[in-house]
Parts: sequence; C-alpha cells; structure tokens
Amino acid sequence: MIEKVPPVERKTRKFLSLDHYSEILTKEYYLLPFRFLRISNEREILVNEIGDFLVVPIGTAARIIEKKVTWSNDPELYGDLLANFFISPLPVPDLLDVISTRYRTKKSFLENFTSLHIFVISLRCEHTCHYCQVSRVTADRHMYDMSKEHIDAGIDIMMQSPSKNITMEFQGGEALLAFDNIQYAVNRAKQAAIKHNKIITYVVCSNLAPLTDEMLLYFKENNILISTSLDGPSFIHNNNRHKPKGDSYELALNGIIKCRRVLGEDNVSALLTTTNLSLLYPEEIVDEYVKLGFRNIFLRPISPYGFATRGAAKNKYDTSLFLEFYKKALTKIIEHNINGYFIREDYASIILKKMLTPFPVGYVDLQSPAGLINSVIVFNYDGKIYASDEARMLAEMRDFTFLLGSLGTTSYNEIFYGEKSTEISDVFTNESLAGCSDCAFQSYCGADPVYNYATQGEQYGFRPTSSFCQKNMEIIRYLVELMDADKRIEKIFRTWITDKS
Ligand code: SF4
Repeated sequence: MIEKVPPVERKTRKFLSLDHYSEILTKEYYLLPFRFLRISNEREILVNEIGDFLVVPIGTAARIIEKKVTWSNDPELYGDLLANFFISPLPVPDLLDVISTRYRTKKSFLENFTSLHIFVISLRCEHTCHYCQVSRVTADRHMYDMSKEHIDAGIDIMMQSPSKNITMEFQGGEALLAFDNIQYAVNRAKQAAIKHNKIITYVVCSNLAPLTDEMLLYFKENNILISTSLDGPSFIHNNNRHKPKGDSYELALNGIIKCRRVLGEDNVSALLTTTNLSLLYPEEIVDEYVKLGFRNIFLRPISPYGFATRGAAKNKYDTSLFLEFYKKALTKIIEHNINGYFIREDYASIILKKMLTPFPVGYVDLQSPAGLINSVIVFNYDGKIYASDEARMLAEMRDFTFLLGSLGTTSYNEIFYGEKSTEISDVFTNESLAGCSDCAFQSYCGADPVYNYATQGEQYGFRPTSSFCQKNMEIIRYLVELMDADKRIEKIFRTWITDKS
C-alpha cells in the first residue's frame, strides 16, 4: 500500500492582509544582531550582520535597545529598522532565509579559495627605491632568479587550486629583468591550464624601465596585464624611486604610454606609495594622475615591512598624518568628479562596495577570513612559500614566522591545511577578535595577522593601538560622514562601484 504523503506547506512571499501588518506594527519587537558607533557629535551609525547601515541621530541605538521606537512615535525609523533587518516582530524573523542568503553571498569570495598566486620571479632590480619592501639585489646577480624547477613546482601547486579562475602575478625585484623566466612560466602555465581546465589572468608588476618592444608584443599576444608604480609628479617619483640617472619618472611615463598604445588603456594600472615627501603634496599627486589620464588612484600608506622600515626619516610617519593626506587627496578627487572628470580612489571604492552593494568583495588586505592563504599565496624566488606578499617581506628581514613550506617538497595539503596555516587561522577572522567582534565596521574591515605581527609583535593584535585599526576606522567613518552630509558625494561614490567610467 502506498502511504499518503501530507501536502507540504508552501511559504509564500505574497502580501498578507492589512490586519496582519497592523498587528505586527503594534507588537513589541525583538532585536536582531547589529552594532553601532558614534560618527560625529550629532550622528551615529547602525550596522547589521550583513553590512546594511543606517545613519541616525545620537541616542537612537539606545532608544531601539530600550524598545522605545514604535510605529506610532517614529514610523519612518521603525519601518527602516524592520525593512533592513535591525528588528523583527518575531523572535526568529520570517525572512531568516533571506538574511542567511545575503550573509553567504557576502562571504562567497571564500568559495574559490586561493586564486592569486604571486611568483617572485627574480629579486634583481636596477632601482634603489628607499622604501623598497624587499632586499633587492643588483641587476647582474642571476642566482637571485627563480629556477625553472621552482616555477614548475609553483605551477603544479597553482593547478591544484579549487578555483577555476586563477591570477598568476609576477613580481620582483624588477620582474622584467627576468623576462625569459616570465615567458617560460606563462608558456608552462598555459599548457597546464588546458589540462586542468583553468582560466588564468596574467599580471606583470614592473617599474617599466627595462620594457622593450619585444616584451610589449609578447604581453599583447598573451593578454598580460601590467601593474606599475607612479608616485606623483617627477620631483616626488624620482625622489622616492632612485635610479643612477634620476630618470625613473621619465621611464615609467614612457612605459605607461607605450603599454596603453599596445595593450589598451584598461590593461595598465599604476599604484602609489605614500612617503613622507608625498604627505606634503596630496593635491599635486591627484592632479598628476588626472593629467596622465588615469581613471583610478590607489592612495596607499607605506608598508611597515622589509627595507621600508629601515629608512625611518623618509618612510616612517604617524597614521594620523597619512589620514590627513588621504582626506585632502580624497577631497581633490571628489572635486575632479564634480567638475566632470571621472576618477575613483581604489581603497574607498573597495570599502564602499562592501557598504553599498550585496556583493562579495575579496580584496586581500581587507577581508575576513583574511586574504592570506584564503585568497593569496606567494612563491618566493628561492622556492620558499609564504602566506602573503607581506609575509615574504618579513622573511627578507630573516623572520620566517609565516613560512609555509618549500616548492618541490611541501604538498598542497601541507601548505594550505598544515600546522602553520591552522595556527594562523585561529586569528584571521575579525568576527572573533577582541575589539573587532563588537565593532560597527567589522563587515567593512578585515583581519591581518601579518600586519599585527609586524607592527605589534603578535598575530592577534591589540586594536586600541593598532595602526591598521586606526586607519580603517577613520577612513570608513569619514566616508560615512561625507555621504551623510552631501548626497552629491554619495552619488559620486555610487559611480565608483558600478565600473562605469
Ligand atoms: S580593525 Fe578596527 S575598524 Fe577594523 S573591525 Fe577591527 S576594531 Fe573595527
């Protein structure tokens, strides 16, 4: 006999009767998880578990928690809180599945696990930049190039990534000094990609000084992207980036022009490093990027790693000075946008995408779980494997805390699931770090055990004195304040995250 299966009760999202809603609106509500922070003397921000936020008058969080906000005394706020998952008429909200789907979507950058593979193809360099983060060696010391055996072993590990889409990035030293190594690696990776059904994006990081037409042709034929450095006008760039003839700026500029002509505008990008000298010229630096036709600029503070920390007079500055510089530069960038020239600031854009869209943002320096291991892995020129680019910079200072193994001898599982990775994973989610766990900006920020270790001596970190925290807390607060104060700015920010330029 066939047993009768009772009909499954179908949940529907259709509008219910008006009575149903009036009943909900007059009932006592339950609090859903959210965090809050004062952003000025008058305003505070409320942020829920999935990163939706409301900017409200000071004291609102207290009123919500004391259940003093009602449909009858503040219908607009009550409606916003209900619609944005800050409060619920039921202890377990009806739309719990919507909240969990949105949470999963925000964290879906984890689905593909490690996709960025950095190959330090050579440690040789012909520049002597005073902020260089690695202990580069002179251009003629070929023993500092990555061996073919290590390149093969790195590609072998890369092909074991669960991600179909992989980025293979070549760094140095100056990567172009080992152009033959790049050619070898790209050719081998292409063959392996066919076998393993992977799609690879190739990026070469270069100061562009050694660039030749032959190289450009090769990049064009193989769809290789170029990432270069531009520190602003020539007097800043040449001061930061030493070459015997003092012509680093001219060479970079020529290289950018050639790359744009052959590879296309979108296939060459530039990064800025902020030194003590740069701090004095925020507007001039932004204007230089505009003058050269760039549509984006990444305002990056100097790294507290490697050689950079040795030139203290030129390279060490307080985070508050960087924040002052950042705000002035951002104001100039906004001004250019108001005047009709589209240019976005990349760090702000990453944060704004986290705040204003439901999409996942897997930027390695600002994610939780952290970018190291989960999104990026580094194969050094000598075959050593590190958890992140910053981890190998520490190693150049003879600190091997984040060394995960060696190419050719350590297996994929030992690298990614071994003792060292497991140990780091204890401290790489900001949801579980003191200070971050109850911070309103948790979902926009990230965790960085390497930074904590390099600046505070231990991976867990101490938020009240952390420069990582100070920088992110203030930049996020400032972005919220700007959007809250001027709707024109919010509109501009929205264009920065829609890829329309
Ligand atoms: S680092 Fe600071 S700003 Fe970032 S989540 Fe932690 S406490 Fe908040």
